[in-house]
Amino acid sequence: MLHPATDILKKVVEKTGTPVMIYDEERIRTRISEYLDNFKSDKFETRVLYASKAFCSGYTARMANEAGMYFDCVSGGEVYCLTTNGVPVSKLYFHGNNKTPREITEYLGKGRGHIVVDNADELGLIAKIAEEEGKPADILVRVNPGVEAHTHEYIATATKDSKFGISIDKKDEILEMVETVNASSQLEFQGFHAHIGSQIFAASSFEGEIQAMFDFIEEMVKAHGVTVNELDLGGGFAIQYTDADDPDDIPTVCKRMITNCECQMETRGLDIKIICIEPGRSLVGDSGYTIYTAGCRKKTDSKEYLFIDGGMADNIRPALYGAEYQCTNLTRETEPATKNYVIAGKCCESGDVIIKEAPLPESYPGDLILVYSTGAYGYSMASVYNKLGRPPVVFVNGDSARVVLKREDYKELEALETNESIF
Ligand SMILES: *Cc1c(COP(=O)(O)O)cnc(C)c1O
Repeated sequence: MLHPATDILKKVVEKTGTPVMIYDEERIRTRISEYLDNFKSDKFETRVLYASKAFCSGYTARMANEAGMYFDCVSGGEVYCLTTNGVPVSKLYFHGNNKTPREITEYLGKGRGHIVVDNADELGLIAKIAEEEGKPADILVRVNPGVEAHTHEYIATATKDSKFGISIDKKDEILEMVETVNASSQLEFQGFHAHIGSQIFAASSFEGEIQAMFDFIEEMVKAHGVTVNELDLGGGFAIQYTDADDPDDIPTVCKRMITNCECQMETRGLDIKIICIEPGRSLVGDSGYTIYTAGCRKKTDSKEYLFIDGGMADNIRPALYGAEYQCTNLTRETEPATKNYVIAGKCCESGDVIIKEAPLPESYPGDLILVYSTGAYGYSMASVYNKLGRPPVVFVNGDSARVVLKREDYKELEALETNESIF
């Protein structure tokens, strides 16, 4: 696997210390272009939405916005970060299964954006607030196509009992939601959304989703007279975490999806105006690296531990759902692997293991350990467990580097402390 030049990485570490999260800016730009250049059709408009939850920062918001992307956001905090960094609300798709009254009111107040509605309760709340405030919005309804993507069960979202969306078998419930939208003087129904999971390796999984969604949309249009302008196919495009991962490349997946949608539309005589996808992980995941410093070592009867100065606080994914990573010892890259270390963090949990078996040369306290592909759902899921504080985030661009998020040190952690009587 690849990482930015070792001398640049070492220079960053000299300035920031470890742990540090480093992004290769050029690689993110390449990923953005791979999507924008290949998810294109002359039959319909296409939109690529950056799923901000993978890694949300002002810097990436400005980058993706300048490149011409749209955005998927799931909370008031993400909406705030995006809009204060120049993203117009018309480029936002507000997702989530339980938007709060505050979030809805604030969002509507920013202008006309898209809202992806998860359930009838939520729709009732949105319609009520939109009416009271006299603010319009474009509505998509999230459905669950019941397509099983081959992925880890905790991140599969399209099983029938999923917490997300309405099963496409529940046609009456969906039609009722469309009617609620149409009955509102402020809301305009645009179409349907689906998302079948994450870390999906094969283009064929998305073809299963497209087939299911077009079957469903054809029935909605022809049997029930629903006008469908927009279809959002969600995200979930896989990246390489270890040498064992071999996902279909982005241009191939995009082109197959486009051809497939064009065919489906033509054979069914449908005229959908806009097709969206929502990659998150695959835009930033394999451009991000975490560098730790190795500390103490420990041998047990069958294992050899190498402890690092971070862990589950900056990367919860291995502990949360068994995610696998690969690493290299930056200090000894030319030496052959002779050991199989357990790379364990410094948090007070036995499950705080970043890599269960890492082939590395004999490693020593002070060595720099780089973990690959930590760019998505690493920083964004980070906690302040054990008051470790979140690492700084640095963007490397050729031979220059800039800090875009500062280290959360003792003072930053202390900033929330108060002793204010509230009644
Ligand atoms: C999480 C999510 C995405 C992005 O998923 P990735 O695996 O990061 O591509 C897109 N759309 C929705 C609705 C999601 O929940």
